[in-house]
Amino acid sequence: MDMHSSIRTAFLRTGEFLADLLFPRVCIDCRKKGAYLCDSCLDAAPRKREHTCPFCTSVLTPFGQTCFSCAPKHSLDGIFAAVSFREASVIAQSIHIFKYEYVRELATPLGALLAETASKTDLPIPDFLVPVPLHTWRNRYRGFNQSSLLAKAFASSFMPELPLVVRDNILVRTRFTLPQAKSHGAKERKANLKNAFSIRSKNPFVKKSLKNKTVWLIDDVATTGATLEECAKTLKKAGVKKVFGIVVAR
Ligand SMILES: [Zn+2]
Ligand SMILES: [Zn+2]
Repeated sequence: MDMHSSIRTAFLRTGEFLADLLFPRVCIDCRKKGAYLCDSCLDAAPRKREHTCPFCTSVLTPFGQTCFSCAPKHSLDGIFAAVSFREASVIAQSIHIFKYEYVRELATPLGALLAETASKTDLPIPDFLVPVPLHTWRNRYRGFNQSSLLAKAFASSFMPELPLVVRDNILVRTRFTLPQAKSHGAKERKANLKNAFSIRSKNPFVKKSLKNKTVWLIDDVATTGATLEECAKTLKKAGVKKVFGIVVAR
């Protein structure tokens, strides 16, 4: 271990220690000590049972796949969500704390929840996972990309014997967009996101590695699905065959 990495490790440990003091590990729901979200509260959260087409939202489809009439107009092949915001308030609250109070540890239970529910679908197993990227400014401000942490936690519990590869160097967010929660209206959101993503590398090997692949795009939440759709559009232009959004809550 060189000096830089040992200083970094010490710094991170201090950070964890401070986080423990400021946010003692207590379950946000039942207040039991030991974890921010305990196993029994995680198990008790109602899983989403009915899934609809992410675009028209009126047709019930298996695991949230895009319906036949919406498919020709969109890039995304579906959005699978583990829970619904309305039914699983504990999960909605956990996501909020994970994202806005920077409690990274919540990636583990949320990723496990996503893996457990996604493993019960018959969506095609992806060649790799792609976390939805943050703009570098926001990434620096927050210190981590929540989707990237989620994707790693997801991969380690989805097929632990043969973990999926997380490729967080494929997509880059080239436009600094307003947080989705603050930009109202579907039209405004769409305009805000137009061409917000691109493929990071022009390297022909990277291009080749995307050809005809199936990708699961990982994110914490989906509201209109506009962000996932923009990512899917970018990936498909680069030769990817199938793109599914896999999110914790919708
Ligand atoms: Zn609990
Ligand atoms: Zn539809």
